[in-house]
Amino acid sequence: MSKAYYIGCIKCGRSREELREAGKLEDLETWERCLDCNRAVEPLWEDGDNLYTYDVEGRHFVMTKQELENRRDRARGIPAEPVQNNPVEHPAHYTEGKIEAWDFIADQNLNYFRGCALKYIIRAGKKDPSREIEDLEKAVAYLNRELARLRENSGGKCETS
Ligand SMILES: [Zn+2]
Repeated sequence: MSKAYYIGCIKCGRSREELREAGKLEDLETWERCLDCNRAVEPLWEDGDNLYTYDVEGRHFVMTKQELENRRDRARGIPAEPVQNNPVEHPAHYTEGKIEAWDFIADQNLNYFRGCALKYIIRAGKKDPSREIEDLEKAVAYLNRELARLRENSGGKCETS
């Protein structure tokens, strides 16, 4: 799978960047939310005219590309409230380096557990230095969940490749 067709709110159709500029993007540690819609901001993957999300359970149809464009056009009427250096919408502990954690997770199409593990690894020692160990333990916990899922799916067989 290549780059996501779109990363944004699937209800109002605004992209992640638009929401951030409008001060409507909230970082909830392991996912992001559109504050106007109270919906997850996530990558959508295209297949023909349709857009899908992927999670641990597989692929889910969301809407057609045309529907996304329609929603986006409607949402553009919502007045923007520019916010700069907002620690909630654009926290420094996830934006250090050239690529933001969320963009990397989406670009790599990591599932929920792998994405969460990565976010905790990235923020460990940065967001709150006193909780560095706790953050890394959370990363391990998410990786263990992913391993449990894979082992369950493979029926207990070991992968040899
Ligand atoms: Zn929205």
